[in-house]
Amino acid sequence: MKSCIFCAIVEGKQETSVVYEDGRVIAFMDIFPINPGHTLVIPREHYANLQELPADLGGEIFKVAMRVEKAIRRSDIRPAGTNFLLADGPAAGQEVFHVHLHVIPRLVADGSGFRFGRANRSRPNRQELDELATKINARM
Ligand code: 5GP
Ligand code: ZN
Repeated sequence: MKSCIFCAIVEGKQETSVVYEDGRVIAFMDIFPINPGHTLVIPREHYANLQELPADLGGEIFKVAMRVEKAIRRSDIRPAGTNFLLADGPAAGQEVFHVHLHVIPRLVADGSGFRFGRANRSRPNRQELDELATKINARM
């Protein structure tokens, strides 16, 4: 993959602070942390997005993220909570096109958070929710 910053990290060509690594997954510190301890968990192999990522590798990434999260909680970083965030596609805020799961320690009233748009202000009726559930299930 040409000029992927996370592939450069995997290849040891880019300075980084590694939290954990194994044969398929690496976790390292985000250079613009939302809070101290903000970690990115990525596959070693380049996959641009979730559509490309094999499901078993997604599972491994999630397992490593859970271990990182537990370790952060046990450390003296002592977050009050955690967000796992995976931005898939530009509309979702993805900026680096090598799949990565953010582990974001959260502090009480740290000033960060999600902003939800207009669609979040209406409550669909049960029939609409059922139709959506059926539509999604049909493609699984
Ligand atoms: P995205 O918006 O794609 O979900 O997040 C990309 C993340 O990668 C950002 O949080 C950004 O700070 C982080 N990042 C971008 N470039 C580098 C880098 O060279 N090294 C590290 N460690 N993190 C990076
Ligand atoms: Zn890459």
